[in-house]
Amino acid sequence: MNTKKSEKAYIEACKYLPGGVNSPVRSFRHLQTSPVFIKKAKGPYLFDIDDNRYIDYCLSWGVAVLGHAHEKVVKAAVKAVENGSSFGAATVYETQLASLITRLIPSIELIRFVNSGTEAVMSAIRLARAYTNRKIIVKFDGCYHGHSDSLLVKAGSGLSQLADKSSDGVIAESIQYTVSLPFNNIEALIDYFRQKGDQVAAIILELVPGNMGVIKPDLNFLETIQELSNKYRCLIIADEVITGFRFKEITAQQHFGLIPHLTILGKIIGGGFPVGAFGGKREIMELLSPLGPVYQAGTLSGNPVAMNAGLVTIEELLKPSNKRKLFDLASDFFSELQKALKPFNVQIEYVGSMFSIFLTDKPVTCFNHVNELSDKNFAQFYLHLLKKNIYLSPSKAEANFISLAHDEKMLDKTIEKIISVIKKNI
Ligand SMILES: *Cc1c(COP(=O)(O)O)cnc(C)c1O
Repeated sequence: MNTKKSEKAYIEACKYLPGGVNSPVRSFRHLQTSPVFIKKAKGPYLFDIDDNRYIDYCLSWGVAVLGHAHEKVVKAAVKAVENGSSFGAATVYETQLASLITRLIPSIELIRFVNSGTEAVMSAIRLARAYTNRKIIVKFDGCYHGHSDSLLVKAGSGLSQLADKSSDGVIAESIQYTVSLPFNNIEALIDYFRQKGDQVAAIILELVPGNMGVIKPDLNFLETIQELSNKYRCLIIADEVITGFRFKEITAQQHFGLIPHLTILGKIIGGGFPVGAFGGKREIMELLSPLGPVYQAGTLSGNPVAMNAGLVTIEELLKPSNKRKLFDLASDFFSELQKALKPFNVQIEYVGSMFSIFLTDKPVTCFNHVNELSDKNFAQFYLHLLKKNIYLSPSKAEANFISLAHDEKMLDKTIEKIISVIKKNI
């Protein structure tokens, strides 16, 4: 595989951009190589500037659920942009997307659109604190909720209140009311609530964590969250930025039967344009300005191009024939891959249309397990697959995705390539 142009482009990029990128995992730094630069994408394929073609399982971190540059989404975006790409004023596109989403996700009665998942979480936290008049936010180790200061916290060891920050520059005062507990650990959660439950404003979680690789939630764990929320009158914030529109039932909350007070959306709902959203119970959402005292605003929020592209994406995705096709394709692929991996010390975890491959013989159910996985092994696995023109999400701790543009033949081929790499190189 020739990647000369990408290598050159990376050197040039590093002159002007820290690490050559605008989001760190893209740099391939942890794979100890330079990244491929993408020229274009169509359907299930990415094309780099050296004209290598890859089958894409990262899909812009799950955004491209219809496949890249879907004809109808392109048309919708062009139509919107021809009429002006931003007005800083109200449009009917926003109402259309809001009406569709509130119809599909019953826990969302009112919704506000913003420009990223990070922004949506940040605003939802402010809202939860205002509504409950409490300070503490409970999150879980390995769950990612964007990069706002108060959520850059990973392993508050066990029940410790003194959470560890995940980034320099985050001051202790910004995270003193954030507590991170182990995911899927019911006892730790109950124990914490026994001590501080009446001070907790909200529990925020990815119902199916996708940012430490796909981890399945223990149903009793989710039930405990619902019970504690009732008992201690704290809010549940479901971060469905990845999982929203990744399930037959639309969201993970509907799939697992958890009812949150607030939900965070992003990624898929902007049809490939910058977007985020938070929504939930009317009574809570009505605290937002201009109705209430919780300030929140955005120059490009509800951007007409993103709204129209998102609307068409969701409509297309939810056509019964498309929905059936995507989930049949995904579940066949996952079970075939699982079967093929059986003889090897490799795990696959999957749910809806997302999956992760973990290079270990042990089950992976929490952040500690993911951290124990070898980076070197993953880098080898990844780079060999890349050479075979398979583009996975470039980290051992990330999710991969299937789109509507993938087909059975290429999925079968992918399984063959995965097995051949594991046999020869892992
Ligand atoms: C991607 C992601 C975010 C952050 O969204 P951005 O648009 O990247 O700011 C938040 N939560 C989850 C679960 C995500 O996957």
